[in-house]
Amino acid sequence: MKALVLFSGGLDSSTCLAMAVKKYGPENVLALSVFYGQKHDKELKAAKELSEYYGVQWRTLDLAPAFAGSSCTLLAGNQGEIPKESYASQLAELDGKPVSTYVPFRNGLFLSAAASVAISNDCRVIYYGAHRDDAAGNAYPDCSESFNKAISDAIFIGSGEQVRVEAPFVGLTKADVVRIGTELKVPYEKTWSCYEGGDKPCGVCGTCRDRIAAFEACGLTDPLML
Ligand SMILES: [Zn+2]
Repeated sequence: MKALVLFSGGLDSSTCLAMAVKKYGPENVLALSVFYGQKHDKELKAAKELSEYYGVQWRTLDLAPAFAGSSCTLLAGNQGEIPKESYASQLAELDGKPVSTYVPFRNGLFLSAAASVAISNDCRVIYYGAHRDDAAGNAYPDCSESFNKAISDAIFIGSGEQVRVEAPFVGLTKADVVRIGTELKVPYEKTWSCYEGGDKPCGVCGTCRDRIAAFEACGLTDPLML
């Protein structure tokens, strides 16, 4: 059986990739990275390097035109600053709305596109790295358990029961993901999570803060911050 991993090159999806490789073997894993018009290509470079490290096939897909007109602060062409506060303090001012780094319906679009790629390439399962911390407070509503259940059902039904979706971390925290990945010896120093594209992670964007805290909760230091 073949597996497709929706693969950003970040911490969560790299851990998903390691799980899929362990279960199915590298020859049966297809890593799919999506370009969505982000301001830098650091994560795509990380995804390429990690795909080579794991010996899996790597494909890219350009879905950037779908986000034309979006005010998401991750997108090139949008002058808005990427927030430097924690997600908790961002959310306190948003009245239930997603954070400004929410890419509109990203997981919905990417998973639907991944389903087409999966069917076309005989993959029977799609892995993606949504986890509980990202869904908290509705920061990223397309990371929630209810979203995951709905889209998993839709893809299973719409693919003629050929493709199922696995979100192994959907009920877990990012610290749990680090714990699992450390056990699997994921080379986290090769991953990239920061929303900025500097030489080193900025350390203060929402995803940097969460990533650093996740390593700390495991008694570890994020290797990118050494
Ligand atoms: Zn950062």
